[in-house]
Amino acid sequence: MTTILQAQNVTKTFGAKGNSYTALQNISLSIETGEYVGIMGPSGAGKSTLLNIFSTIDTPTSGEITIDNQNIVNMNEEQLSDFRRNKLGFIFQDYNLLDTLTVKENILLPLALSRVPAAEIEQRVEDIADTFGIREILDKYPYHISGGQKQRAAASRAIVSKPSLILADEPTGALDSKSAAGLLESLSKLNQHNQATILMVTHDAYAASYCKRVIFINDGQLFQELHKEDMTRQVFFGQILEVLAKLGGGHHDAV
Ligand code: ADP
Repeated sequence: MTTILQAQNVTKTFGAKGNSYTALQNISLSIETGEYVGIMGPSGAGKSTLLNIFSTIDTPTSGEITIDNQNIVNMNEEQLSDFRRNKLGFIFQDYNLLDTLTVKENILLPLALSRVPAAEIEQRVEDIADTFGIREILDKYPYHISGGQKQRAAASRAIVSKPSLILADEPTGALDSKSAAGLLESLSKLNQHNQATILMVTHDAYAASYCKRVIFINDGQLFQELHKEDMTRQVFFGQILEVLAKLGGGHHDAV
């Protein structure tokens, strides 16, 4: 296995001296190829800050981060935008689909921008549409499909360029439980069959139970880590709830 993401002593302080707030303190972690990792913790723990830093949208105050063997901390804007386009896939809570394009056009947009040959685009869109079960809605426009379908379309778009790392921020946050389960099943399939590496921030223990490893943070520091290993998803879910109970606060909407 190779390491996709390596973070060492990542610290993030907001605000000026005298009035500063340390949102992350000495976070070190690594993620290997093919892992499916969840990040959980109470509200205000630093989850979004950490994800924003890994996304290269924000920078750490100190610490080192490499993704796919590239140091992301010292890149300039142009290098960062190339890096994001080539290496990262983003799945957000709000789908960010373009309303004037069909689902298919939305999905193939990143490939068209990267000048991938048409035949290959066609093949990749079909494969990803199968994985996410959205073949029958490819020619529809976003306003004609459900929230769950929109999220699966947005996830397909994030993943069609085969990113080294998929970053998901509360991907099930706006979905009903059936749609959430559908999306999580699709992400698991992608992880298992395509060795896609996924890092997902969620406050939802049910969503986290689909991960192979869950990292808990509290007050900007690593708190605990759980590995699913041979557990069933139900047993893993129970263990996640136990850690959330220890953490207290912010977990009430998790079940
Ligand atoms: P979580 O995602 O776990 O709820 P966040 O990463 O959003 O937590 O926030 C961690 C802490 O950092 C919170 O106390 C929050 O108020 C603070 N914080 C986040 N972003 C900023 C910012 N831009 N300026 C100042 N404080 C911030």
